[in-house]
Amino acid sequence: MKLDLQLFAVPARRTSKTAKRARRTHLKKEAPTTVACPNCGAAIAPHRACSKCGFYKGKEVVKKEN
Ligand SMILES: [Zn+2]
Repeated sequence: MKLDLQLFAVPARRTSKTAKRARRTHLKKEAPTTVACPNCGAAIAPHRACSKCGFYKGKEVVKKEN
């Protein structure tokens, strides 16, 4: 049996509230992944130099003025 896919727009009232909400279940903003900086402990993006202290892999790679 061939699948009958809907490839066209459907009038809003033809899609039930439940179907619309179920579809939008996966449309959500997720918090960005962070890890604790091993040097200063700030929450930073993984595999990036720390924006607070400028350290990466135990070395200061970006000079930070304090
Ligand atoms: Zn840091």
